[in-house]
Amino acid sequence: MAGTDRGDLTRTAILALLGTVGPLSRTEIARELDLSPASVTQLTRELMGHGMLEELDLKPSRGGRPAQRLGLVGSAGRALGVKVTADHLVLVDVRLDGEVLGSWERPFDPASLDALGDLADAVESVMSAAPAAGQAPPLLGIGVGVPGSVDDQAVGTVNAPTLGWQAMPVGERLRRRLNLPVLVENDVNALAAAERLYGRGRTHRDFLVLTIGRGVGAAIVADGRVYRGARGGAGEFGHLPVDPSGPVCGCGARGCLEAFVGSAGLLAAARAKRDGGRQDETDPLGAVAALGRAAAGGDRAALAVFAEAGAILGRATAGLINVVDPEVVVLLGEGTADWSLWQAGFDRAVRAQLYPGRRDISIEVESWDDTSWAQGAAALVLATPFDAAGAAGEQGRLVRARLIEGGLVSARRTSKGAIA
Ligand SMILES: [Zn+2]
Repeated sequence: MAGTDRGDLTRTAILALLGTVGPLSRTEIARELDLSPASVTQLTRELMGHGMLEELDLKPSRGGRPAQRLGLVGSAGRALGVKVTADHLVLVDVRLDGEVLGSWERPFDPASLDALGDLADAVESVMSAAPAAGQAPPLLGIGVGVPGSVDDQAVGTVNAPTLGWQAMPVGERLRRRLNLPVLVENDVNALAAAERLYGRGRTHRDFLVLTIGRGVGAAIVADGRVYRGARGGAGEFGHLPVDPSGPVCGCGARGCLEAFVGSAGLLAAARAKRDGGRQDETDPLGAVAALGRAAAGGDRAALAVFAEAGAILGRATAGLINVVDPEVVVLLGEGTADWSLWQAGFDRAVRAQLYPGRRDISIEVESWDDTSWAQGAAALVLATPFDAAGAAGEQGRLVRARLIEGGLVSARRTSKGAIA
C-alpha cells in the first residue's frame, strides 16, 4: 500500500460504511470503524465540506441528546454505464444514489475494423447529450459491462467469444480516447456490483446472482466481494456440463447448461417438439418472447419447453448452491420475463436436489428492464468510493480523486453564491 494516505483510506471506509448500511450517527461510525470520536468528527467535517456527506434527521435516543445522523449526498457524482452486446450498446447516466438521469441505445458491430473506436464514439455522443457541466453532478468515470471475461477491472482486457473478441484492450483504448477513469468487467459481475450497492448486498455478504436470457451467467459474491477467479473468468455457470449427448454449445463443448436453457436452446427444443417448425433466428430473444406468448395462451408444446428448461436450470442451480452455500440467490436477466412459465419445473427440481439444511434458501426474481445491464456497469464506477479494499486499483483512486475535486468545485460555487 505504498504511497496511500491513511486519511484517504479512512475517508473511503466512512463512505463505504454509509453507502452499504445507510445513515449513521458519528458515534455509530466511530464504533463500527474503531476510530476515535475526534477523528470521526474531523473526517466527516472534511467529507461534508467536499459535498459528499450531509446531516440528516435527528435520531431519537433514550435519555441523552438526540444524535445527528450523516448520509451520502446522491448528487455528489455520476457515472456512465455501457453494456456491450453482439449487435447494440445500451448506455445509462446514473447518480451516486442510483437515480437514472438518462438512457440511450446505439447500434454496434463488435466485428467492425475499429470496434473500440466505435465504442468510444458512442460514449462521446452520449457525454455531449448529457446535461452541461455545472448542472449535473461531476462525471466520475465510465463503467463497461461485457459478455466475457476481463483480466482486471482497472486494466480491462477482454476475451469474449460471443463478440469475437480476443485480448481486446477495451479499458486502455477508452481511457486514452476519453481521458476519464474506465472500469471494465464481466456483465454479470457488474450486476453483482449493483446488488452490493443498491440491493441484496446491503444485507447479505454471501449471495449468488444468476442470469437467464440469450446465455446463462452467474456471479459469486463471497464475504462481500465478487469472486473473480485466477483470470477473471469465475462464474461461467452456462458452461456447466449437463448431458454429454446434448446439443453443441457456443463454447464448442457438448451439452452445457446454456445449450439447453439459453434462448437458442429453448428455440431448438421448441423446433424438435414441432417437427421442424421455424423461428426467426436473427432475433432469438424476440422468438423466445413469441414462444412465451404461445405458452401463456395454453400451447402445450411451448409450455413443455419452459417446464423442461426450468427443471434443468433448477437441478444445476441446486448444485451451485450446494457448492457455494449462499444466503440468498437473486435471479435476473431478459429470461425472467417468462419466469412464471419456468417456475413450477424449477422449484420442484431445485428443492429435490438441495443439500439438507439448505432447502429453505430464498431464490428471488427481481425486476428487470432494458437498462439493467448498463446500470450494473455504472455501479462499477459508483461503487469505488466505497471500495475500501481497493478492488478497482489505480482507476478507483482516480474516481475518488474526481469525486473530491467535484465536491470542492461545488462547495466553492455554493459559497460564492452565498456571498452574492
Ligand atoms: Zn458451453
